Amino acid sequence: MSKKGRTAIVPTRNENYPEWYQQVIKAADLAENSEVRGCMVIKPWGYSLWENIQRNLDEMFKDTGHVNAYFPLFIPKSYFEKEAEHVEGFAKECAVVTHTRLEDDGNGGLKPAGKLTEELIVRPTSETIIGASFSKWVNSYRDLPLLINQWANVVRWEMRTRLFLRTSEFLWQEGHTVHESKEDALEETYRMLDVYAKFAEEYLAIPVIKGEKTESERFPGALNTFSIEAMMQDRKALQAGTSHFLGQNFAKASEIKFQNKSGSEEYAWTTSWGVSTRLIGALIMAHSDDNGLVLPPKIAPSHIAIIPIFRDEEQEKIVSEFIEKLLKKIKKLRFNEKKIRVEYDRRDIRGGEKNWFWVKKGIPIRLEIGPRDVATNSVFMSRRDKEVNEKESVSVEDFLNNLTSILDEIQTNIYQKALKFREKNTKKIDDKNEFYRFFTPKNKTNPEIHGGFALSHWCGNPACEEQIKNDLKVTIRCIPLDAETEKGKCIYCGKESEKRVVFAKSY
Ligand SMILES: [Zn+2]
Repeated sequence: MSKKGRTAIVPTRNENYPEWYQQVIKAADLAENSEVRGCMVIKPWGYSLWENIQRNLDEMFKDTGHVNAYFPLFIPKSYFEKEAEHVEGFAKECAVVTHTRLEDDGNGGLKPAGKLTEELIVRPTSETIIGASFSKWVNSYRDLPLLINQWANVVRWEMRTRLFLRTSEFLWQEGHTVHESKEDALEETYRMLDVYAKFAEEYLAIPVIKGEKTESERFPGALNTFSIEAMMQDRKALQAGTSHFLGQNFAKASEIKFQNKSGSEEYAWTTSWGVSTRLIGALIMAHSDDNGLVLPPKIAPSHIAIIPIFRDEEQEKIVSEFIEKLLKKIKKLRFNEKKIRVEYDRRDIRGGEKNWFWVKKGIPIRLEIGPRDVATNSVFMSRRDKEVNEKESVSVEDFLNNLTSILDEIQTNIYQKALKFREKNTKKIDDKNEFYRFFTPKNKTNPEIHGGFALSHWCGNPACEEQIKNDLKVTIRCIPLDAETEKGKCIYCGKESEKRVVFAKSY
């Protein structure tokens, strides 16, 4: 179905990538823009994706010793003002609560009354409000490490929004930890970066590069920010998770002090780390095709769609009895230690329409079952990692025996495809002209998909980074943690450099 005009999603990725993205979301019924400017409504199929992200990540957090807690949505302005860089970084995006109640305005409407003596900030991130609690909870080295995570919503006022990628309100988790020493806090920062990378690769099937951010891209108030960076199908980078080493900055701002083993008082060392509903945007853009969403089985809300095929009531009865029996057998199986979920689509619409409905929703396996299949005790199977019209008849016995390995295979295929795409579009570039050509589209008015990840040398000077950003809208996505020391020359100024960094356009 790749011929022009015959794809389920119009436009295709090549025709108009941003519009294709919106149409995939619409066709899969994941989310929609709300009447409230900048906010989205996450619909059930989209919210199930978030639930699966939550469930699996939460388990990984708990396996690494973290526990969940919940802190206030509102942050007193004075808390927020304590860390100077932090304020500066977030001030422009803050939503501020100034009043507590509404009154009759005398014209049949309402007006805010009861002005607050101290304004409240709707949390854009919770370092300062959580710090206020931590300063009370931490007294001695015996209280450390303190390993807390919060699942919450946050607000960062945005003028230009895109579903899942950039909205004023979004869902996320934020980990906040307190440690005795710099080494312990750094170790935690790396540990959580590893958790994010493992989750992205094993569950979302998205290959990522782990690296450190340059100073200009650092979290406001952090000493080091690390991220995982993924390539989308328009060859742009998407930052899919961040882990920050905060040093003693926030401990000093919030007075998080403890008595050490020798009895003297010192400031603690803290970290914070987070991922958000942006991961759903990454999932959509990394794997989906011109026929809609493609979901890795480990994160899919459901694994199999069953489409019954019949002409009359008699056939319907035979087919539905057969399917009911099959459902009971599938329910006994487990994939990735969890239930295998099935959608038995009994809606009164044509089979072909149902088939496309599930293709667009990205369900990993589709089964068409009609009287002929019942007669041969088999199912007609198609997979979302293959062509839409590629279908095969499989005996029920084989299907059940191989089901978990088929799901594993789909998971692996989706990951491998994304990995190959990234490898194909990653290039070591040492020549400045070539670098500029790489990131310049041929068609300036309607830019085609171009560029990718350029692995190039950088001298460490923020001025070179800034110039490249101004010229090409290309930034240093990260300094890869596994980058080898290698003598070279800065792609911009030609000065000596020790290692290559990842340059890309980004979301
Ligand atoms: Zn330079």
